[in-house]
Amino acid sequence: MAKKLPTVLLRSGEDRRVRAGHPWAFSNEIFMDAETKALPPGSLATLRAPGGEALGLVTFNPHSLIAARVLSANPEATVDALFIGRRLAQAAALRDRLVGVPYYRLIHAEADGLPGLIVDRFGDAFVVQVNSAGMEALTPILLEALEAEFSPKTIVLKNDSPVRELEGLKREVVVAKGEAGSVELIENDARFVADLSGGQKTGWFYDQRDNRRFMAGLAKDAKVIDVYSYSGGFGVLAAHRGAKSVICLDRSQPALDAARQAAVLNGVDKIVGFEKAEAFEALEKQKSRGFDVVICDPPAFVKSRKDLKTGAQGYRKLVRLAAPLVAKGGFFFVASCSHLVDPPLFAEQVRRGLRDAERSGRILRSSGAALDHPVHPSLPETAYLKAMVLQLD
Ligand code: SAH
Repeated sequence: MAKKLPTVLLRSGEDRRVRAGHPWAFSNEIFMDAETKALPPGSLATLRAPGGEALGLVTFNPHSLIAARVLSANPEATVDALFIGRRLAQAAALRDRLVGVPYYRLIHAEADGLPGLIVDRFGDAFVVQVNSAGMEALTPILLEALEAEFSPKTIVLKNDSPVRELEGLKREVVVAKGEAGSVELIENDARFVADLSGGQKTGWFYDQRDNRRFMAGLAKDAKVIDVYSYSGGFGVLAAHRGAKSVICLDRSQPALDAARQAAVLNGVDKIVGFEKAEAFEALEKQKSRGFDVVICDPPAFVKSRKDLKTGAQGYRKLVRLAAPLVAKGGFFFVASCSHLVDPPLFAEQVRRGLRDAERSGRILRSSGAALDHPVHPSLPETAYLKAMVLQLD
């Protein structure tokens, strides 16, 4: 028989949100008696309404603001490798339908029923990011479930995100199976290279897949610059789809090396050039104007609420510096992955940057992350990516 789980009790009136389907309870909403406070971070627990009714099975961390994360609405659920395996299988079936090739974000946390967990798939290699104490405690059965579902060759625990500190977890990269290193992936029918242990985040940003395809569709015979190119997801694809010339610009040499490898793999290395530079400086210095397509996909400028104002202005500055490079009638892509910058604020910064640059134009498309990054309906704020495509006069 399953052993009885400890109770985490919601304070009076604090059960409404979870009853309505929200997957979190915050620490101030929980009745923190000595016993509850003493539960080891990451414990499985039964979340109960003030009257004692069981609302679900949660992972609990008394030291985190997001103290309880709902793992199952069924308080009686058994959390074992089969339980996790079912969620992995469901998520994989969705991706197989959405993406078609085994290169995708397999698990996008709450939206896939596994709070605190990110898994990116590169064929038979899996890169896992564990971002909660609850998922940390479940890692052994997660590894078991990955093994049972996919028999992976490689599993990397890329547990180096700063958010782990909010959960009291240390930042580390552990190769749980096989050998880490660079792998090839296929996206939009082109070949790319991701460094699974030494790269940024999981080694590849699948979230821009659809936006890359859209931009590549505008790039035939075009002169293109891909600013913040990382490993060439936009730029190399644009070359693959017939751009006349492409510059990939990034400050990271390893990222540019991977982009160069991708250019070679796709037979476009004569078309793509590489520039290692600080973006703002390079844009300011850029003599060459008249790019038909300018792509700017920067890192998050806003990392915490306290730098929302100055960080958000970074997007305005980026647009001010990049818009002058766009030829008359050319296309401009700009994105923000700062989750604290909401779509209206982002649109406002873009509008101001264009005005600063004295450019007019029209928004052709506003979009977000690719479909393998689903969003939990109660957590719309986790839809972090905003992208805009404009034509400039
Ligand atoms: N567009 C990429 C993802 C960009 S991620 C893609 O499609 O995959 C952000 C990139 O910006 C990283 O590669 C990082 O190395 C680079 N970067 C961060 N700060 C920078 C700066 N100040 N100047 C130039 N590149 C920078």
